[in-house]
Amino acid sequence: MHRIVASIISLEAHAAALESGCDALRPRNCPHCNGCILWGHGCYHRKADREHGGGGSFNPVAIARFLCAECLRTCSRLPLCIAPRRWYNWAVQQLVLLLILTGRSVNYCSGFAALDRRTVRRWRDWLAQRSEDFVFHLRSRFAELGRAPDTPMLWYRVMHEMTLGVAMALLDQDLIVP
Ligand SMILES: [Zn+2]
Repeated sequence: MHRIVASIISLEAHAAALESGCDALRPRNCPHCNGCILWGHGCYHRKADREHGGGGSFNPVAIARFLCAECLRTCSRLPLCIAPRRWYNWAVQQLVLLLILTGRSVNYCSGFAALDRRTVRRWRDWLAQRSEDFVFHLRSRFAELGRAPDTPMLWYRVMHEMTLGVAMALLDQDLIVP
């Protein structure tokens, strides 16, 4: 869906991109019809900043929307530091999933990352359910991942070598994530 802009990795950089007219956020093609004329179409807001408190907070974070001149449908674009449909960013999800992959329990991850057990369980189940699909697409892009001996080791390498967020940004071009 090309919803994730992998080159914008911080809320600071995202704010600068919005201020300079959204060109860095504008998709090259419409995700619905592949049309190449996309107009700025305002924004919606998300409470995506969980790091900066008080006056330094970026909340509410504006998410740029675009309107396709051909099919008249809209799309929005998220910086890498905001995960689609998730309250927590990719870095927190990666930390928890790495612990799960190394055999830690849901209870352990919940305590370690100060997260609700249901959240940890949801992420664990999400990766388990989507893994086959994700791995297929990642392997077709990165042949060297084929050498990973098993799926947990492959994810371990993906998270260390490209990070979960970048992997999801790539997968989001072919699939719907999460
Ligand atoms: Zn379109």
